[in-house]
Amino acid sequence: MRDIDTRTRRIFRITGVVQGVGFRPFVYRSAWEFGLLGTISNSPAGVTADLEGELDSLERFEECIQTMNPPLSRIENIATSTGPCRDINSLRIIASETDGSGTTIVLPDIAICSDCLSDIFDESNRRYRYPFTNCTNCGPRYSIIDRLPYDRCNTTMSDFEMCDRCREEYHDPSNRRFHAQPTACPDCGPQLELWVGKGNVIKSRDDALVETCRLLRNGFVIALKGLGGFQLLVDASNDDAIKRLRIAKFRPDKPFAVMVPSIEYAADVCLIREAERESLVSIAAPITLCQKRNEVDRLSDSVAPNNNYIGIMLPYTPLHCLLMTDYGEPVVATSGNRSSEPIITDEHEALAKLSGIADYYLVHNRRIARHVDDSVVRIIAAQEMTIRRARGFAPMPVRMDLDVNGIVSFGGHQKNSVAVGVGRSAYLSQHIGDLDSMDSLGAAENTLSGLCSIYAVKPDVTACDLHPDYAGSDLAMRQSSEVVRVQHHYAHVLSCMVEHSVESPVLGVAWDGTGLGTDGTIWGGEFLSVSDSGFARTASLRTFPLPGGDAAAREPRRSAAGVLFELYSDDWVDYASQPGFSGVEIKMIESMFSANVNMPSTSSAGRLFDAVASLTGLCYKTSFEGQAAILLEHTAEMSDVTRRYEFDFVSDGEILIVNWAKMIEGIMSDTADGVSVPDIARTFHNTMITVILEVAEKSGEKDIVLTGGCFQNRLLAEGAVEALRYRGFCPYWHAAVPPNDGGLALGQLAAAARNRERGE
Ligand code: ZN
Ligand code: ZN
Ligand code: FE
Repeated sequence: MRDIDTRTRRIFRITGVVQGVGFRPFVYRSAWEFGLLGTISNSPAGVTADLEGELDSLERFEECIQTMNPPLSRIENIATSTGPCRDINSLRIIASETDGSGTTIVLPDIAICSDCLSDIFDESNRRYRYPFTNCTNCGPRYSIIDRLPYDRCNTTMSDFEMCDRCREEYHDPSNRRFHAQPTACPDCGPQLELWVGKGNVIKSRDDALVETCRLLRNGFVIALKGLGGFQLLVDASNDDAIKRLRIAKFRPDKPFAVMVPSIEYAADVCLIREAERESLVSIAAPITLCQKRNEVDRLSDSVAPNNNYIGIMLPYTPLHCLLMTDYGEPVVATSGNRSSEPIITDEHEALAKLSGIADYYLVHNRRIARHVDDSVVRIIAAQEMTIRRARGFAPMPVRMDLDVNGIVSFGGHQKNSVAVGVGRSAYLSQHIGDLDSMDSLGAAENTLSGLCSIYAVKPDVTACDLHPDYAGSDLAMRQSSEVVRVQHHYAHVLSCMVEHSVESPVLGVAWDGTGLGTDGTIWGGEFLSVSDSGFARTASLRTFPLPGGDAAAREPRRSAAGVLFELYSDDWVDYASQPGFSGVEIKMIESMFSANVNMPSTSSAGRLFDAVASLTGLCYKTSFEGQAAILLEHTAEMSDVTRRYEFDFVSDGEILIVNWAKMIEGIMSDTADGVSVPDIARTFHNTMITVILEVAEKSGEKDIVLTGGCFQNRLLAEGAVEALRYRGFCPYWHAAVPPNDGGLALGQLAAAARNRERGE
C-alpha cells in the first residue's frame, strides 16, 4: 500500500490537437507507468488529467506527456494546478464533459500507421488483409464526419454496428483503438465489391482485390472508391492503357500522378531528396512532385509527357497498401472525375459519370461524407509548398493574428477553395476545383455550409473576388450577409502574410495568370505595398495586348503575338513565324489588332512566361494550365548560365513600370544567333529574379512576400529567395497555403477582417 501522506495532487489541463488522436489512452498509459492514480477526461478545451502520486513521478509524467505525445497530436499548452489529495485508489478514463460547442478541431484524413500496417500483413491478426483497418493514430476523419462532436454516430461509420470484439477494444483504455470512431474489422465493418457495367457484382471481399490486380495487369482502367473519392487506376507501364485513359478523360498532356508500392520504389523512378522523402512518408502522404530519373522503363512516357517531374505518392490507406503490395508495380492514380468537376464520392454516380472512362469499379459500402482529393506538394527552397491542399491537410486551421469570427469567403474561380473564420482561426477548405460546372458550384456551396455547420458559424460577412464574373462572387451575392469584394492580388499577398504571421508593411510580389485590378484592367505582374490600412500598387510589369482574350490562356503564341505587337506595332508580322503562326492565322490576329476588339491588355507575369515559351519555340498551344511555364522552367533547368537580359524602369506618373522591351529584344536576337533554348530560358528566369530584386530595393521594404501561381516555379521562387536574402531582405513564400488561386479564400478572409478592424 502507498503511503497517502507523501502523495501530491496535480491537475493537468492540456490543450491543442488532443482529441480523436489517441491522446487519452496515451495519458492513461503514461500515468500508469509512473504509478499515478486519478482521472483522465476530454473537456471542451482539450484533455484534463487529475492525478495523484509522488511529486517526482508527477514531474516525470509531465515531461513524458510533452515529449512522447502521439504522432497526430499537437500540444499547445499544459496548464497545471494543485489541490488537496483525495482518497483515490484507481486510474480511470471518465466520460467526456464535451458540450458539443464545436471547439474541437476536425482532423484531416491520416495515412495508415505502422501498427495498422503490421496488422493487415500479419496472417495471425484478425484484421489480416482487411482494407478498412484503422486506429486512433490513423485513418479517415474529415471525409467521414457528418457533424461534431466527433463520435461514431456522427460519422458515416454509423451505418455499421461494432461487433463484440471491436466494442471491447473501443472501450479498453489501454487499447490503441480506444475510442477510435471508425474502428472496424472483417466481421462488422465495410467490405469491398468489384463491379462492372451497370453495377453487376463480379467479386467481393478479398477476391475483389485479387481480381483487380489481374485486371490492372491486363491494361484495364479501374475506378477505385478510395478515401475521399474515386480514383482512376491503370498500370503505369502500359502505354496503350494510359493513352486510352487520356483520350477518355480529354487529357492529352497533363501529367498523371503515380502511386508506387514503396519509398524504395519511389527512389528507383525518381530522385528523392531528404525533403521529398519526408513529404512522401508523412502522415498526410501527399502527391509529391519529384524529378524523374532518366530511362525508367517501368514508367510509360505517357505518364508525364515532356515533363521532368512526376507526382509520386505512397499508398496511404490499408486498401491502397494491400493493392499496391499485391500488384508490386506503379499505377497511375488520377482523380475520378470528368474534367473540371469535383471528384466523385458515390459509387452509383461513378457508374453514371465514369462509364466510358473506367472498365471496372472497385467499390465499398462506407459512405464518403465529402470529397477530398489527393493533395499535391513540391519542395521549394527545402520547404514543402502545397500546390493542391486537400487530403491530409484540410481542414486544419490557419491561426491568425486577426479576429475572423463570422467571416466566410468564396475564393477564386479556378482551383477554388472556400474558408470559414472562427475566432482567430481560418478553416480553409479542401481543393474544390474550377467553378465551371453546376457540380463544382454546388460543391463550393456545400463545402462552405458544411464547415459553417461543423463549427456553428453564422456568417455576417462574406468575402469574394473583385471580379463580377467569378462564380464565387455570384455565390457570395446570394448570401444574406454583408459582401466584401477583395482585389485578387491583394488576397494573394495577404494569404501568404497570414500563413507566416507577417505584419505590415511588406512588399507583395503577386505574379500569376490573371486577376481583375482595381482600375478594371487585367493584372498579373504586380508589386503591392501592403500597409495596415490596405494596399497600394507601387509597380507592375509593362502591359501588352492579348488577342482573343481568354483564348490566350490556352495559346501562349497569342501572348507572344501581343508582346511583339506591343514592341513593333504593325511590323510584328516580320517576327510572327517565330511563335508558330501560319499565314492564315497571322491574317486573323492582324485583323484583331487593327480592329482592336477582344484584345484586353494585361500586366500578367504568367502570360509573359507564356510569350517567352512561345518565342523560343517550346510551346505554342497548351492543353492544361501552366503547361508553357512548366516547359520553360524545365528547359531552363538544363542550363546554368548566370547571364541576364537588360530591362529598365519607366514611370507612368503613379506607378513604376518594369519595361521588358530590351529583354524580349535580347531573346529575339539570341534566338536568331542560335543560342541554345535552355540558355535563353535560364537567362529569362535570371532576369525575372533581378526584376524582383530591383523593385524590392526601390520599395524600401524589408519583408518581401512572394505569391501567385508563378511561384510554383522552383527556379523562379528559389532564385528570388536566394537573391533577396543575399541582399539582406527577408523573403516569405508559401508553405501550407497554396500560392495559386487555391489560397485566395484565406486572403479574402484576412482582407475582410482587416476592414472590420478598421471599422470600414
Ligand atoms: Zn493505425
Ligand atoms: Zn468488428
Ligand atoms: Fe491568381
